This record gives sequence, structure tokens and C-alpha cells, in this order.
Amino acid sequence: MAEGILLVVSAPSGCGKTTILKQVMAKVSGLDFSVSHTTRQPRVGELDGVDYHFVSKEEFLALRDQQPSGFLEWAEVHGNFYGTSRRDVEALLSVGKDVVLDIDIQGAEQVRKNADPVTIFISPPTLAELERRLRGRGTESPENLTVRLANAEKEMAAADNYRYLIINDILEQAIRDLQAIITAERRRRNTAQVNRTVPRS
Ligand code: ADP
Ligand code: 5GP
Repeated sequence: MAEGILLVVSAPSGCGKTTILKQVMAKVSGLDFSVSHTTRQPRVGELDGVDYHFVSKEEFLALRDQQPSGFLEWAEVHGNFYGTSRRDVEALLSVGKDVVLDIDIQGAEQVRKNADPVTIFISPPTLAELERRLRGRGTESPENLTVRLANAEKEMAAADNYRYLIINDILEQAIRDLQAIITAERRRRNTAQVNRTVPRS
């Protein structure tokens, strides 16, 4: 069986990445979401094991320091630790599932060093709209909001390192764009396999 495709999706906080990914995951079959580990506190409505594996700093560091590391990649983002379980991702890819990693720009850089992921950056139409969305979500303390908005400008500067850019202005269009990218990348993989396996006569 062919290995699945590894998709890396990054965006500044509040851009709409979670909203887009939830809808795309519901529409596209054969796609799995890698549930990250984090030391941040759950938001209202977030479920342990669904949105994140919510762990203590000690649990996170123990996983990180395993040999080999329990994390495919990890980073400190907006003052909390986040990491992708190596075991979970490898298990899904090995059974042919395409796997989505919702990770920040530091994590994407680490994954690029060890694999050839399909990388997608989601941008807000403007920074002012990003701030409106983040404030409108109502999940962040004033301090966290300031940190996330300050980091947004740095994160936007990394967009050029990604294979695809989606501008999340009209939500439905952004969802269609991500679906189109997944379809195209699947065709590309299938074409490569057919070229290798179809006999000449
Ligand atoms: P992220 O996961 O990137 O931090 P969210 O998915 O939580 O962001 O979205 C942040 C807020 O912006 C949410 O309240 C969401 O409903 C809203 N939102 C997402 N996409 C759009 C859009 N295209 N237009 C207007 N609001 C949006
Ligand atoms: P939030 O706290 O808003 O859920 O996520 C904050 C940031 O952490 C987002 O940019 C998100 O993509 C990133 N993030 C979530 N999980 C991971 C992970 O496993 N690794 C890394 N490097 N970043 C992550």
C-alpha cells in the first residue's frame, strides 16, 4: 500500500484555520487530523483527545525527551508547548491515510527537514481583519491577544516558504481552495504510481 500524503497547514492565530480544517475534514474522505499535544489550557468547548491532547508541562517534556523523541516536531508557540505525536502520524501514513498537521511555522520547518510535506499557508485578507476575528472569537485574555497579534506579523513573513497560499477572505472559497489542493496532490501521487506500475504491453 502506498504511504499517505503529509499535509502541513499553518496560519496566524485567528485567521480561520481551525474553521476551514473542520469543514474540509468533514467533506473529504481518507483524510485524518493529527491531534497535537499541548500544555495550553482547553478553551470552552474544546475536548481532550479531539481538539488536542491536553497535557502538563512535565508530561510534554517527558514525551519530547524520549529516544527517539515522541514528537515528530514540537515548538513553543505563544508561550505554550505544542507537539505532533510521531507514532500517531507514522501509523496513519503507513496505512495510506493522508494526514493533516495543523502546526506553526517552526514546526513546519522541522517537518520539512525530515520529510517532503505538502505545505499550505493560510493568510487573513488583512491584519486588521485578523485582529477583528481574534477579538470576535473571545477566547484570549488581553495579554494573549497582544502576543498572538505580535506573532502574526512574523508568521506572515514565512508564507513564502510554503507550497500553497490560501487567502481566507470568503470562507467558502478558502474551503474550496483547500479541497482543490488536496485533490491535485492526490492526482499527482496517483500519476506517479501509475507511471511506475502500468506495464508497457
Ligand atoms: P484559527 O484556528 O486560525 O486560530 P479560527 O478557526 O478559530 O482561527 O477562527 C477565528 C474566528 O474567525 C472564528 O470566530 C471564526 O468563526 C472566524 N472566521 C473564520 N474564517 C472566517 C472568514 N472567512 N470570515 C469571517 N470570519 C471568519
Ligand atoms: P491554538 O492555541 O490557537 O490552538 O494554536 C496556536 C498555534 O499552535 C497555531 O499556530 C497552531 O497551528 C500551533 N500548533 C498546534 N499544534 C501544534 C503542534 O503540534 N506543533 C506545532 N509546532 N504547532 C502547533
